[in-house]
Amino acid sequence: MLVSQILKTKGDLVFTASPQETVGAAAALLHTRKVGAMVVIDEQEAVVGILSERDVVRVIAKEGAGALTKPIASCMTVNVVFAQPDETVDALLERMTDRRIRHLPVVRGERLAGIISIGDLVKYKISETQAEADGLKAYISAG
Ligand code: AMP
Repeated sequence: MLVSQILKTKGDLVFTASPQETVGAAAALLHTRKVGAMVVIDEQEAVVGILSERDVVRVIAKEGAGALTKPIASCMTVNVVFAQPDETVDALLERMTDRRIRHLPVVRGERLAGIISIGDLVKYKISETQAEADGLKAYISAG
């Protein structure tokens, strides 16, 4: 299964934020959008970072509630790891495991084409395993 096929089902919507927005505003957006991470883009829509709920928790644990008024830029990750639409689910699972991250923005050329979370990959893996089990059961009972 390719990333592009998952995006066909899931859609290409990527929630974004600007680096000047505050950590408090970002936390509220993560909550209302029901997502674990947002891609941070500048005025030219270039990706400048990624902010996950883990970054919010870390900065509050270190600096207290005062961190909520700081800009996202102060705690986002700037070296963003991406995925390409023609990559496989297994390649993405390996990258997430190696890097200990749960989100991979997908880029087609220079443009954001979607975002894949660990939850999307697990969902696909479960349906693949179920289909294999169903196939084996049908094979055995046809025996
Ligand atoms: P996550 O497990 O995705 O919630 O994020 C854990 C940490 O990895 C946070 O510090 C994120 O900013 C960072 N992170 C998440 N996704 C990526 C990514 N695609 N590229 C680089 N860093 C990331």
